[in-house]
Amino acid sequence: MKLKILHLYPNEMNLYGDHGNILTLIKRCEWRGIKTEVIEHEPGDLIPDDIDIIFGGGGQDSNQNKIENDLRKIAPKLKELVENDTPTLVICGLYQLFGDFFETSESEIIQGIHILDITTKAGSNRLIGNVVINTPEFGEVVGYENHSGLTRLGKNSVAFGTIVKGYGNNGEDMTEGAKYRNCIGTYLHGPVLPKNPRIADFLIKKALEKQGKNTKLEHLNDAIETRAHKVAASRPQ
Ligand code: GLN
Repeated sequence: MKLKILHLYPNEMNLYGDHGNILTLIKRCEWRGIKTEVIEHEPGDLIPDDIDIIFGGGGQDSNQNKIENDLRKIAPKLKELVENDTPTLVICGLYQLFGDFFETSESEIIQGIHILDITTKAGSNRLIGNVVINTPEFGEVVGYENHSGLTRLGKNSVAFGTIVKGYGNNGEDMTEGAKYRNCIGTYLHGPVLPKNPRIADFLIKKALEKQGKNTKLEHLNDAIETRAHKVAASRPQ
């Protein structure tokens, strides 16, 4: 068994430990005897057809700018993969750009690729701190946020979770992130997967399911992950 993980723009889009999400996917596969190959996608690269998991992290406005054109070029392929239920996790900067657009504080529009029905405009304050949310699928999820963007969900969007602590999408409507098919968009850095291994296993399970493989994932001892989750959840905002 082997899973191909597409890592979008590891040089430009990687903040507050986002790369740890890739390490978590690799390790949780390795511990179960599942091989992985990470395809690091940088501007100009082609995307192979047989991608099993898509991951993309966050980035400063200037870096979102740098990848904007390439992202538009690969958008049809990414759309096709998401529509075919490819498990996908996009954080903050790429979460915003999987939506319609991000309008920066200089009123510059960075175009998104319309996979998620969301729009984002920079607010006057950055939303920074620890976050706890409740999600229907994974229960309590913890992470860290740092963004100027205020995201609004369109009518075809479902929130990833509801805010317990922190700001989430906009600091007003108590929503955090968005979910569409097997694509999760979220503001949670941290990185998010090591402290929320259920999400990592969801991505792995869905990827194996798509390959038609046995989807009963071997149980792992998550004592350390559970402790890390509890510590993160207990931190003040
Ligand atoms: N530049 C975006 C914002 O500030 C995304 C930041 C991030 O990825 N952490 O909203």
